[in-house]
Amino acid sequence: MSNKELWINILRRLQPTIKKAHFLTWFQSTVVSSLKDGTLTITVPTVYARKWLSEKYDLKIFQAAEEIDSSIKSIKYKVSSKVADNEGEGVDVKTLFAPETEKKARKVRNQNEIKITRPGSSEKVATQMLNNKYRLNNFVVGSDNRLPHAACQAVANNPGGIYNPLYIYGSVGLGKTHLIQAVGNEILRTYPDMVIKYMTAERFVTEVVEAIGRRHMKRFKEQYRNVDCLLIDDVQFFARKNSSQQEFFHTFNELYDNNKQIILTSDRSPSELDDLDDRLKSRFGMGMVVELIAPDFETRVAILHQKAKEFQLMLDPAIFSFIANNVHNSVRELEGVLRQLVAEVQLFERVPTVKAVAEIIKRMNKAQKIIGYDIDEKAKNKVAKSSIEIIDIVATYYNVTADQIMGKARHKEFMVPRQISMYLIKNELGHSFERIGAGFGGRNHTTVMHACNKTTQMLRKDLRLIRDINSIKKEMGL
Ligand code: ADP
Ligand code: MG
Repeated sequence: MSNKELWINILRRLQPTIKKAHFLTWFQSTVVSSLKDGTLTITVPTVYARKWLSEKYDLKIFQAAEEIDSSIKSIKYKVSSKVADNEGEGVDVKTLFAPETEKKARKVRNQNEIKITRPGSSEKVATQMLNNKYRLNNFVVGSDNRLPHAACQAVANNPGGIYNPLYIYGSVGLGKTHLIQAVGNEILRTYPDMVIKYMTAERFVTEVVEAIGRRHMKRFKEQYRNVDCLLIDDVQFFARKNSSQQEFFHTFNELYDNNKQIILTSDRSPSELDDLDDRLKSRFGMGMVVELIAPDFETRVAILHQKAKEFQLMLDPAIFSFIANNVHNSVRELEGVLRQLVAEVQLFERVPTVKAVAEIIKRMNKAQKIIGYDIDEKAKNKVAKSSIEIIDIVATYYNVTADQIMGKARHKEFMVPRQISMYLIKNELGHSFERIGAGFGGRNHTTVMHACNKTTQMLRKDLRLIRDINSIKKEMGL
């Protein structure tokens, strides 16, 4: 096998384990320049690429290389700008991906999608779709939002029944769009033939304006004739849009008179809708009006659990309460923190710590005082310098005490943190095996050596351990 073939085989193994964008960036034009005495030398075009490969992907590269050729014992990285220009030598990593199947020229219409033919053009289709991810059964019900949820369920069971119109209001990020769309999805599940039209009030206004401009009001009105259920999101947007209000008034009446279900959402109650025609206000309020309020602590924790499950994010329970303690007002923000954590896990391959979460929350909301964690700017840049500091950090990370780490007990829950502490003290502080052994209750230096070797070995295989150590190192300020 030539060096080039060897490298391509290694890259093929690596490629599924690394995000495509990163892979394309960092492995482009790389070559294996030599394999001598078990050392594989990889030459890359830039110092950045070397930094990324050696810091982030070293283990993965090693694992892949070892699988292809078991004589490989270590990897070295060299930079040479020549590889970038030298055509034919560096691997063009784009070729490692299967060619993308041709994009379908036409979007397949699904049941939830309502066609809105724009006036003046029979081809162009504008759609606002129900998003399938919004469902009634993934809306977390706490003590405060039981009523809105129950009302939605009732409407979904019996559209056009007594809760008509259903008007849901509450401030931003509390789940109005989720609920209104969830009802639409639920109705379609039970009554697949019903025609459901979902749109934001803003969209409605745009379409009215266009229809007036093109003198197509009649056609515009006709769109609503066959609708069984009209969902309009954020009706506060109708304020001061007089012709749209008028148009919506007619649409509303016609649907209502025919027992078609209407659901509306807004950031305020009907009576607080300033600059809205009184006739509309009174109609909005004549069915069922429910308010969404910010979830309490327990509900916030429950929502975080549900979303973490959706994001496939494993988190320590302490982190859920920490987030719930610090983010109160909007479910969207709770979700935002989790999204950033997902990115953190994917990018840096580390288990999020309370400290990482505190930093994310601080970034998102600069003015806020973080409860339950003190981010001291100076402490942030401090590097753990003593073995005791390292043991303390490891102990906190694994939820055990420093005494348990330094003690004799041979339970797994203490052994792993103990071995990791020894490994980090050896590698980060450079203490001798003897000195570390003495610090750990007079243990023999061979015990320490064994612990360090074992950790090094496990680090080649155990992704969870890699993440743990990365997180601990971050806590150490490394
Ligand atoms: P609004 O329309 O009120 O501004 P959204 O419906 O867009 O808020 O909600 C923001 C995000 O929070 C959405 O991703 C939604 O799924 C989620 N969300 C809000 N409330 C809940 C809840 N009780 N359970 C689960 N997810 C929720
Ligand atoms: Mg919304």
